Amino acid sequence: MSDDGTTSTDDARTSEQLVELAKRRGYFFQASGAYGGVGGFYTFGPQGAALKGNVEDAWRERFAVAEGNMEIDAPTIMPEPVFEASGHLDTFDDMLVECPDCGESHRADHVVEDNTEYEDAEGLPIPEVEEIIAEYELVCPACGAGLADQAVETFNLMFATNIGPGDAQPGYLRPETAQGIFVEFPRLKEYARNQLPFGVTQIGRAYRNEISPRRSIIRTREFTQAELELFIDPEDDEPDLSAVTDVDVTLYPASEQEAADGGHVETTIGDAVNDGVLQPWIAYYLGVAREWYASLGVDMDRFRYRQHLAGERSHYASDCWDAEAEIDGNWIEIAGFSDRGAYDLSKHDEYSEDRFTVFQQYDEPRTVERAVVDPDMSYLGPEFGGDAQAVVDALETKAERDRAAFAGESVEIEVDGETHEIPVAKTGFAVEEQTEAGEHIVPHVIEPSFGVDRLVYTVCHHAYREDEVDGEERTYLALEPEVAPTFVGVFPLQSDDELETRARDIVDELRAVGLSVTYDDSGNIGRRYRRQDEIGTPYCVTVDYETVEGSDASGDGRNGAGGDGETLSGTVTLRERDSTAQKRVAIDDLAVTIEALRTGELTFDELDG
Ligand code: AMP
Repeated sequence: MSDDGTTSTDDARTSEQLVELAKRRGYFFQASGAYGGVGGFYTFGPQGAALKGNVEDAWRERFAVAEGNMEIDAPTIMPEPVFEASGHLDTFDDMLVECPDCGESHRADHVVEDNTEYEDAEGLPIPEVEEIIAEYELVCPACGAGLADQAVETFNLMFATNIGPGDAQPGYLRPETAQGIFVEFPRLKEYARNQLPFGVTQIGRAYRNEISPRRSIIRTREFTQAELELFIDPEDDEPDLSAVTDVDVTLYPASEQEAADGGHVETTIGDAVNDGVLQPWIAYYLGVAREWYASLGVDMDRFRYRQHLAGERSHYASDCWDAEAEIDGNWIEIAGFSDRGAYDLSKHDEYSEDRFTVFQQYDEPRTVERAVVDPDMSYLGPEFGGDAQAVVDALETKAERDRAAFAGESVEIEVDGETHEIPVAKTGFAVEEQTEAGEHIVPHVIEPSFGVDRLVYTVCHHAYREDEVDGEERTYLALEPEVAPTFVGVFPLQSDDELETRARDIVDELRAVGLSVTYDDSGNIGRRYRRQDEIGTPYCVTVDYETVEGSDASGDGRNGAGGDGETLSGTVTLRERDSTAQKRVAIDDLAVTIEALRTGELTFDELDG
């Protein structure tokens, strides 16, 4: 594990094998291969696209539908002012070091982390990273040339583009789906009837011009995120933890990472909140996500939640926990759970023309003292001309923030960088009692942000198995039924018109109940099983002579097989992927049986035959 810096050969071999399998069986492969491919872009093949779609559907079901959140679909290109406000233009940078010999660019923090005992170089200031590179005499991972004298620079990860002809309107491909939700907040809050808390989700592409994309689909330049932005009133809203309080979790808090002998903490969500390790909202989503990941087949012995160290947090986050899965002996971030506070909405409120606040009604109207001004315009007008309104605004702000400033003969204000003294008598300053029904607040944001591609990779990696069947080595993906891209393979035992017709009829019948089915008649039966095992198809159906002999083709319409409107009869072999066990099942029961196996109502062991 990367915790102690060791990586076993076996672990690394699994990834090599998986990447080969993914290409061979249509999961994922580098895009635009005919033109040499380009780093960081991948195409999901037929199996991969189906698996990814199943993961997205499962996410939508759990984090949008079951939680009562709204889902939106916003554009992937947004104008520059959005990212000026969000802070991405200024701060969404990685550290880059360029090799003086081969010219290859590398992430300086990765070069440090991969070759020294530093685990969190991303959080270090640039001069310190330069010092470490020099001190350890680190070299270019591509050609081995020394990097000691190279400057480390910041590199903004956003892809820039122009909207329309010319360069008058710069735009960027969104680096996270979240901004598409934040900028629409003024409208979204109306759909939520101005009531907090409410959540908005989005599943879509995000783009980051990664300096060194690597590890297949784990670090790419275009990837899919599934994000939930939950808008809360931090004073009033609390999650209902009852559903997750007993969920077991492995936590790696910042304090443990910083301690010399620190380690993982095995606890429950309820205890972690009571012990002050987790704040309630983050705890709620860690609990929900842990159960959800387990249902998709992520191995819970290779899964943990790690808190970000202070220097590692994004510019918007006040607290963040990553879901991490172990891959090849390294911990990989597969989701981030951030407390973004009021950061995003405050910024858009400040930079845009719209209001990013919610009016929160008090239980009872409150009487409050307010400092107000009612300036004498017959004085301000001639004195300040076109700036008179700006002076009024400045006086109002001053009264709200610093009533003591009005205690003397004159009050000092600043307009466009210039200081002015205004006689207090001309400001109409007064402290009044007002009754207020509520107040405008900037909601806080809790954000669970999932990387779909990394999850697809993790699900496949954790499902990767090798065993021996009938003296032959076998590779299979033990995918959970919920995500398996193909659920049933149907084969005629051998090349024979009658068997093939029966098999195709079974395919139609199974597809008609909504199962994802593949038909395969090429190669010997053993090869076809191996092929479906590698794809991770949970069940295979083989049509043999018993199938046809067992059916009554005499034409009385009850047991006849094969023709339109006729029922299929006889039995087929149903084979389970993981155990390779086989049972005979009546064709009449086949669709219902397989559907029950898919939903979990029935297990293969419970099946007669
Ligand atoms: P972040 O906004 O950096 O916390 O990213 C949220 C999630 O998106 C991460 O947990 C990853 O699963 C995923 N992610 C981030 N960057 C990449 C990338 N370059 N390639 C693939 N997935 C990514």
